[in-house]
Amino acid sequence: MNENREIANPTRTKEILKKHGFTFKKSLGQNFLTEPNILRKIVATADITKETNVIEVGPGIGALTEHLGQSANQVLAFEIDDRLIPVLADTLSPYPNIKVLHQDVLTADLAQIIKTEFTQEYPIKVVANLPYYITTPIMMHFLESGVPIAEMVVMMQKEVADRISAKPGTKAYGSLSIAVQYYMEAKLAFIVPKTVFVPQPNVDSAILKLTRREKPAVEVVNEKEFFKLTKAAFQLRRKTLWNNLQNFYGKDEATKRWLTQALEVASIEPSRRGETLSLAEFAALSNALENSRS
Ligand code: SAM
Repeated sequence: MNENREIANPTRTKEILKKHGFTFKKSLGQNFLTEPNILRKIVATADITKETNVIEVGPGIGALTEHLGQSANQVLAFEIDDRLIPVLADTLSPYPNIKVLHQDVLTADLAQIIKTEFTQEYPIKVVANLPYYITTPIMMHFLESGVPIAEMVVMMQKEVADRISAKPGTKAYGSLSIAVQYYMEAKLAFIVPKTVFVPQPNVDSAILKLTRREKPAVEVVNEKEFFKLTKAAFQLRRKTLWNNLQNFYGKDEATKRWLTQALEVASIEPSRRGETLSLAEFAALSNALENSRS
């Protein structure tokens, strides 16, 4: 490949868009990357080798996909926009190890697709410049699918990256931080200015690197109830844990007794705010609630 002619090169991007008469759809979160150095940095952060299989969400015209194809064993890229399918067939034709799946990633049966499409059992990494309007649902779809994703290196709005990687006691910490950190170790890798996209988004972006933990961060008796509890605790951020728990579980005497006892067992003051509780404290409280459910 001629270095100057890679897809992400601003001149080549313009040519591709013009050739195919492509116009951006804001509703699909289409902000394409036109800075090859950022793409190289993303691929380096994800540590992609010929012994890595990659899943990409939203290849666009293939700017990141091309770099992934050059470094990885195989790349599967989910693209929802029909208009991009012929464009990608054109731009990615030199890369036989890339397959574009014309599909909404949120409804994809990831386990099945991984089984049928990847020919070698290499570690699977998700690398993507995500469509920002569905960042959280996409993250949760991968995490909850149970498929063995070793790492995710994903671009998103900086504000969402801050929330996902937030530590207890900070403003950004919430149920999303817990939902992701339960499965993965989260680190903000680097910030990406809005100027490297066409069209430019309104906000700065960040690359988040998530590495799967060998086992979840904390041991819980009932995962579903644990996540429900974390959501309940953050329902009204300015309220105390006690207020939020009563609002969610009920204010009758039996429920109040159940909550009080569980808080005692977990050694958590009811007057604290949800944002001060660590994952371990949420797990202790959830387990205490489960163990004394009548
Ligand atoms: N990867 C390209 C780049 O970096 O230049 C494009 C990234 S753009 C931010 C997001 C892409 O996701 C668009 O191509 C858009 O059409 C696609 N997309 C949006 N919703 C999707 C969905 N539900 N499933 C799969 N792709 C989707």
